[in-house]
Amino acid sequence: MSASPTPVIASSPLDAEAQRLLEHLGERLDAPALWWSSGYLAGLAARAAQGAPRLSVVPASAASAADEVIVLTASQTGNGRRLGERLRERLVAQGVPAKVVASGDLTLKQLAAATTLLAVVSTHGDGEPPDEARTLFEGLAGRKAPQLGKLAYAVFALGDSSYPKFCETGRVLDERLAALGGRRLLPRVDADVDYADLAEAWVVEALAAVPAPAAAPVGAAVVTAFAAVAAPQVAQATRDTPREAVVLTAQRIVSRQADRAVVHYELEGGEAFAYEPGDALGIWPVNPPSVVARVLAQVADAAGAAPVTRSRDTLPVADWLAERLEVTRVAKPFLEAHAERSASAELKALLAKDAAAQLQQFMAGVTVADVLESYATPAGRRWTAADLVAALRPVAPRLYSIASSRKAVGDEVHLTVAQVDDGAASSHLWLRGSAGDKVRAYIEPNTRFRLPEDPSRDILMIGPGTGVAPFRAFVQERAEVGATGRQWLFFGARHVEHDFLYQLEWQQALKDGRLHRLDLAFSRDQAHKIYVQQRLREQGAEVWRWLQGGASVYVCGDANHMAPDVHAALRDVAVAHGGLDAEGAEAWLGELAAGKRYLRDVY
Ligand code: NAP
Repeated sequence: MSASPTPVIASSPLDAEAQRLLEHLGERLDAPALWWSSGYLAGLAARAAQGAPRLSVVPASAASAADEVIVLTASQTGNGRRLGERLRERLVAQGVPAKVVASGDLTLKQLAAATTLLAVVSTHGDGEPPDEARTLFEGLAGRKAPQLGKLAYAVFALGDSSYPKFCETGRVLDERLAALGGRRLLPRVDADVDYADLAEAWVVEALAAVPAPAAAPVGAAVVTAFAAVAAPQVAQATRDTPREAVVLTAQRIVSRQADRAVVHYELEGGEAFAYEPGDALGIWPVNPPSVVARVLAQVADAAGAAPVTRSRDTLPVADWLAERLEVTRVAKPFLEAHAERSASAELKALLAKDAAAQLQQFMAGVTVADVLESYATPAGRRWTAADLVAALRPVAPRLYSIASSRKAVGDEVHLTVAQVDDGAASSHLWLRGSAGDKVRAYIEPNTRFRLPEDPSRDILMIGPGTGVAPFRAFVQERAEVGATGRQWLFFGARHVEHDFLYQLEWQQALKDGRLHRLDLAFSRDQAHKIYVQQRLREQGAEVWRWLQGGASVYVCGDANHMAPDVHAALRDVAVAHGGLDAEGAEAWLGELAAGKRYLRDVY
């Protein structure tokens, strides 16, 4: 049997002439030129899909080198980074050189030299920039901020409309860049948690708005990008392509008397779940059936309703509520719509401009079912299946810091999860299940929270409550690689007897020399509260010595109170033992962070 010289392309949409031209081209071009062409054609396809004019090809040698587009990402949970990556791939496919730069890595000097910046920035908590972007934002707000007369930019802001300062970070960046002389390429877009459609539209607009690719040194950039995309690899589970993971173990690791359950999970993932210490596992939740049933009971046509279409999907209303929409927490647009339907004066008062704090508190404690039951609608104004599916927001995956190292546990993924009651509103962590159950999951990389590359460096880990999870991974990893640096853990919980998470493991690690110091703060075992930051201050002289010796310090857990309090304690240590004044201590912490030696995973 002889091999056919030209493989037949099955079900090609090309006519005979186009097919001949393509085959001819295929024979003429070498591998790099073929890669380049594939990128060029993908770019043409993207532009054709948006009705944009065609591109003309300028040979790389004839092109004047266009400056690289900087895709700036400021991301807390990975959405911004993912969107930035997508934008970069599309720019490169269109022949525009582009790179993604995390906001923690962008200096003011680089910004001053940039000509095109496309920024995807998330807002965190109460209007704060994500942790990684703090230094950049402080620099931009300060007196030393550069003039940006050369810069053309656009901002895509990610946020959560349940918070009063919706998309604040994006707004601040957009206005500040303009004030420094930058030219807006596009009006800012403020996107809520269901940002997918707005993001796609913005990417298309941004592609059309950046300087034309004719001036770009296309060849090399396209080849690299597409080689990376096309190289065969094990399909890693991602947010958009989650995989099933099986629960192997779900073990309560606090006593019966603990105020709330904390469960240690071990999941079997497989190769699709390759992770590094510091990464998180994203889990697509299934809503509690009890809450779903209560919501369905409030829908006027629940029983007879036809399947409902939203975006590209058509499903029965019960399926929308079970897996696709958020019912255990409430968003402001839904509350506004329900206030209208129910004509509830109480809801309207909560939604008034001056009641932001009360609204926040209210939303933190109720589910969609609670709202529907408590603020009844008049008979003719009840929600229909179609209206309700349109009004609720898409479910978001829950992220858990991984509590294991693959080097120690193979294909397993361990988690430390504070449990929330079945019917309760849950604004953060959510997972249930027992051995044998399956969850749809993926790895959310967190490159901002990595062990030092040099294993001889010491590390300090501060993680009260379930914030200790990634430090279990760190200690496992450092033992497996035979790291010679020391490990010091600060852990806090309410009661030594009830919620000392992984107590036996830490004690064993101390014995084996895998952990060198353990300082504990049990907040409720005495009349006055003791927190980890008190231990930091008490051990200040030694903490300072470790840091002067090149140690890195890691903080994981609550972003609102614990992280700022620990920050203040570290500042105090520098004042008390380093002889710095408050301003100097703050600058020193800033330098530690910039040098990736003060790292936080807080939310
Ligand atoms: P928690 O049990 O509520 O608190 C742990 C300990 O910290 C308690 O002793 C608590 O004391 C104390 N504490 C309270 N306020 C503090 C402060 N300002 N500074 C220092 N310590 C303070 O904690 P948790 O619910 O387990 O979770 C901690 C946080 O970690 C949550 O915000 C969670 O979202 C986050 N987190 C979890 C993971 C994960 O994978 N599981 C990963 C990253 C972050 P009192 O209660 O007695 O005041």
